[in-house]
Amino acid sequence: MTKIKRIALVAHDNRKADMVEWVEWNWKKLIKYDLICTGTTGKLVNETLLKKMGDEQDETISMKRLKSGPLGGDQQLGALISEGKVDMLIFLWDPMTPQPHDVDVKALLRLATLYNIPTAVNRSTADFMISSMLMDTNYKPIRKDYGSYINRKIEIK
Ligand code: PGA
Repeated sequence: MTKIKRIALVAHDNRKADMVEWVEWNWKKLIKYDLICTGTTGKLVNETLLKKMGDEQDETISMKRLKSGPLGGDQQLGALISEGKVDMLIFLWDPMTPQPHDVDVKALLRLATLYNIPTAVNRSTADFMISSMLMDTNYKPIRKDYGSYINRKIEIK
């Protein structure tokens, strides 16, 4: 994990207000990092950051915007995690509403767990993460060695 963290931000529709408020609180920290967002979340996060930056717009926002979550954005993000291109995930998912892309949501959380990516699924955890002293260090999460799994013998009869 490099010092300039690559932070993924995703919020389901009922959690977008929470995400916007969280970004409003943390905009000064967030503009220092590379952001990766699903489509609609990214649009809102970008607008929020621009509003907060106001006259300080000499700073630039580094953001990669993926497709909207239900249109493949969660899977794009999962692929980036598997390629080691995401350092941290803030995923405000909605625990009260079934999602059309529920399987993608599950897959994203699974990959974040598999690759040991610091993951916040609610605002309080996101608060703890963004204010961690590890944010500006070269913290390296331990990655489990899946070598024996990759090299396992498959008997074909
Ligand atoms: P969205 O996707 O940011 O495009 O709304 C979020 C999601 O549902 O994964």
